[in-house]
Amino acid sequence: MSHVYFQSLEKAYEHIDNIALVNTAKVLKSMQKFRVSDSHFAGTTGYGYNDVGRDILDAIFADVFEAEDALVRVQFVNGTHAISCALRAVTQAGENPSYISLVGKPYDTLQGIMPFKHIDVTSDGSPDFEEIKKAVSDNKPRAVLIQRSRGYSTRKSLSIDVIKTLIDLVKDLSPETYVLVDNCYGEFVEELEPTAVGADLIAGSLIKNPGGGLAVTGGYVAGKKHLVEKAAEALTVPGIGRECGSSLGQNRLLYQGFFMAPHIVAQAVKTAVFAAAEMERRGYAVSPPSLEKRSDIIQSINFDDRVKLIKFVQGIQASSPVDAFAVPEPWAMPGYDDEVIMAAGTFIQGSSIELSCDAPMREPYCAYLQGGLTFEAGRLSIQAALRNAGIID
Ligand SMILES: *Cc1c(COP(=O)(O)O)cnc(C)c1O
Repeated sequence: MSHVYFQSLEKAYEHIDNIALVNTAKVLKSMQKFRVSDSHFAGTTGYGYNDVGRDILDAIFADVFEAEDALVRVQFVNGTHAISCALRAVTQAGENPSYISLVGKPYDTLQGIMPFKHIDVTSDGSPDFEEIKKAVSDNKPRAVLIQRSRGYSTRKSLSIDVIKTLIDLVKDLSPETYVLVDNCYGEFVEELEPTAVGADLIAGSLIKNPGGGLAVTGGYVAGKKHLVEKAAEALTVPGIGRECGSSLGQNRLLYQGFFMAPHIVAQAVKTAVFAAAEMERRGYAVSPPSLEKRSDIIQSINFDDRVKLIKFVQGIQASSPVDAFAVPEPWAMPGYDDEVIMAAGTFIQGSSIELSCDAPMREPYCAYLQGGLTFEAGRLSIQAALRNAGIID
């Protein structure tokens, strides 16, 4: 995998805009095909039977993600909840391990849900294909988990090409094994989603990429029909599944957010590329490099300096549209070993498709930056943070 994929920043930005164009065309075509109209935005109350807008949005997510079926619900409280229901759909209660995580450990919040085994990445942060082969052919596991995004680890995010290679490998060695992909932070960063290259099920959060900055809460799962049904039963109860769950007046925002999502994701990816380029120019180590092809919206920046890191994060907060007056400080967050500092001046609480930045207070003092609803605000914010950290005048 080459670190320099694009010849210039302009080429990188152009590529990102082209992906947004392709994905916008898909979303538009699907909304037209399903004859989306005003009446779909009305929604239901109470039990939520016959919520046509909700059910059509399921069909649109499935269509755009090239999946048999999808379940898009405000009743998923976050991404963890959606992935948890997806995990319950592909596993059998009581089995130990319930699944194998192929590329390092699953995301922190998933680790307590059920027992798992994991395969570490290689020293350069790539999937360990030899170990994966061995584990899959020896165990023929009921399910494997692949996390697309780097999350808050130092490994690389997985491109759709690499995800396809992993899926083909698993299906070749053990055709019955279900492949679940944690798709958080990945939607619309490339032209295809994991369901288009053979994933049995994917899941993610609506206050990240596919909510387009407009969804106020929720999550989704998409994939094989019988697995989506099982995930729906995990979300509600067996026998009711997807039939209940009123949309609480949110349908219009979910549709409009999905329509906006390819463009908004491009804004976030361009903000990440800009941040990487600005830091590289001043000698900081970043991952991924500005000219590398991306598969998620996360940018990590290595400050190697506690004070600069804190000042940078505070600069991001101070240049936000919301809570700009607040000054974040490192604090002991439940569930984390080190103190953490977070900037999130967002319209939707904790939304990380909006520009946000967090960092554990430990060496090498690395910040994880993601989101950005507009490239303009993203650039202004990065520059303000660099000034606040004394890195530029
Ligand atoms: C955000 C995220 C999740 C889910 O986190 P929530 O905060 O519960 O939405 C899971 N996996 C990855 C890789 C993520 O980025």
